[in-house]
Amino acid sequence: MQKEDCIFCKIARGDIPSATVYEDENFRAILDLGPASYGHTLILPKEHFTDLCELDEAVAEKVLGVAARIGKAMKSGLHCAGFNVVQNNGEAAGQTVMHFHVHVIPRYEGGPRMVNWTPGENTEAEREEILGKIKVELGK
Ligand code: AMP
Ligand code: ZN
Repeated sequence: MQKEDCIFCKIARGDIPSATVYEDENFRAILDLGPASYGHTLILPKEHFTDLCELDEAVAEKVLGVAARIGKAMKSGLHCAGFNVVQNNGEAAGQTVMHFHVHVIPRYEGGPRMVNWTPGENTEAEREEILGKIKVELGK
């Protein structure tokens, strides 16, 4: 299913032209218009899913394989030293386009720092509390 007012639905189905690096029956991968680095690519499912929580399981099973193929092609074709696979869910997590997508971001030696955080700390009690809260939900 697609959503009429969704820009990524229009791009994924080819109604809006895009710089497509890869396409198969489930996905179109395009160059990001505001790239974090040279070659920054977005993998878009052709069906509309808002985020990872809504993603169809069959599509979810395939998407990491596509990211791996694109990442390998970036390493050999763009000569990046590595790449990040990033996927944002919800505004609080930085998602700006509400159509599930995966970022594949080539990283170059000496390039800018990104996808970083300052490691925090947690206590044994906090860890136990967190485990309880998540595991009870997973068990439902
Ligand atoms: P996110 O913040 O995870 O929702 O990422 C959305 C990404 O989509 C950003 O990196 C934008 O630069 C990119 N973007 C937004 N509109 C377009 C578009 N029309 N074509 C290509 N990339 C886009
Ligand atoms: Zn969409």
